[in-house]
Amino acid sequence: MRESIREPPFRKSLFWCPDCNVPLVASTCGCGKSGYEIPLTRPHDVRPVLEHDRNIITEYLNTRFGIETLPQILLLNKSGGIDRTDTIIANGVQFGRLTFDPLLREYTIELTPDALPFVISEVSKGIVDITNEIAEGANRHLGGKNIPCKSDLTDGPVIVHANGRYGTGWLRNNVVKVKSMGRPRPAVFPDPDREQVIRCNKPHLKNLERHAIRFIKIEKNRRPECNVAFSGGKDSVVVRELARKAGVTDCYYVDTGLEFPETTEFVRSLEIPLTLRGQDFQAGLRKNGIPAKDHRWCCEWLKLEPVRQWRETRGECVTVQGNRWYESFARAGLPGVAENPYYSGQLNISPIRGWRALEVFLYIWWRELPVNPLYEQGFERVGCWMCPAMLESEYEITRGLHPEKIAEWEKILAKYAKKEHISEAAMKCGWWRWKSPPPKMAELMKESGIQINTQRSIKIKNKR
Ligand code: SF4
Ligand SMILES: [Zn+2]
Repeated sequence: MRESIREPPFRKSLFWCPDCNVPLVASTCGCGKSGYEIPLTRPHDVRPVLEHDRNIITEYLNTRFGIETLPQILLLNKSGGIDRTDTIIANGVQFGRLTFDPLLREYTIELTPDALPFVISEVSKGIVDITNEIAEGANRHLGGKNIPCKSDLTDGPVIVHANGRYGTGWLRNNVVKVKSMGRPRPAVFPDPDREQVIRCNKPHLKNLERHAIRFIKIEKNRRPECNVAFSGGKDSVVVRELARKAGVTDCYYVDTGLEFPETTEFVRSLEIPLTLRGQDFQAGLRKNGIPAKDHRWCCEWLKLEPVRQWRETRGECVTVQGNRWYESFARAGLPGVAENPYYSGQLNISPIRGWRALEVFLYIWWRELPVNPLYEQGFERVGCWMCPAMLESEYEITRGLHPEKIAEWEKILAKYAKKEHISEAAMKCGWWRWKSPPPKMAELMKESGIQINTQRSIKIKNKR
């Protein structure tokens, strides 16, 4: 009889050690203390802040509020928005919200009232004083109120002050919308580094590793061959290591032909034994049109078909893959073992399906595994350089890294826009990424004065 393995739990919150001031991947810290819970938003894929994002956060908070010091450990929790929207977690609280505006092509950070105790002593600007604008004694009930005010600040997030009380708010056209007011007491926290986070989580990381290796060992013999599907991303770095520890060394990589040069170089440095090549993308474009989030013919064309052709010559196999529940709503129900729906000769097993990006990065740092440099450069996920599933914020980073590739792609997009009667303004904020754009995108167009007709062609009334 086959040994069975318990399904890992689906976690909707993050634990935090109040003594060590570190995030925990389970409920207790290596120091012995129980962590408290911080709720997460869907898809609950909490991850550490890496270099590029840290620079954005530091620069924004310094420019807007004069804040100079931030904890070494910052986390991000993706939440719903038109483009990039992340809750920033710091010192065990939801600290703020980082958003990217696809029209203005800029980031904003809105602080939460919980952030005030550890930034208030450094805040030197970005303050709106409403003491003179409110009735005496009214400062206790300002949360949610719109208060007219005079301010030289540009519209955006602000710290609100009234009679010795502080809060956060949003300034627009000389009216500040107050979130809540209080008397934040400046607080000092320990400032652990990555090493300490790993130390505090080591027992749990060991557990995760042991379970994943056991899972691979149980499942790997269900077909005559077992291999690892390596994508160049962080999740496949982890499964490649876990599979190696479980005795699986065969590994393949599919080069779609649209890989970032950074990914190609990274894969080359790892000496992955087999590279399969995707079909010609230009031929796919002529046949299927522009790929979109809701029209991902490219996955089949560039990734699945070369694997199918290869397996036809080799026969059935088990493939260890790095897919995780927390990556997307679509993957939230991913089983541990499943036939490849595109090619039934391949049995996919997912040993890290229950890991979040936080566990993945902690494991990489603990085991000192090499990782694709694109993560430190601001990408949350690594795929093709023009992937329609990419965020506009990531597309902007790509433009900076590889302007020649983006120029080439935008020539193709311009032809498509002309044919479909899509305005330049709509294309610029990523309208091409959907065949049927979601209502929130249509709403953004409307709010910005970009009219959309039912034939999916857009006329501009006025530019924002
Ligand atoms: S990474 Fe994006 S562009 Fe590349 S095959 Fe997948 S969906 Fe298509
Ligand atoms: Zn602790």
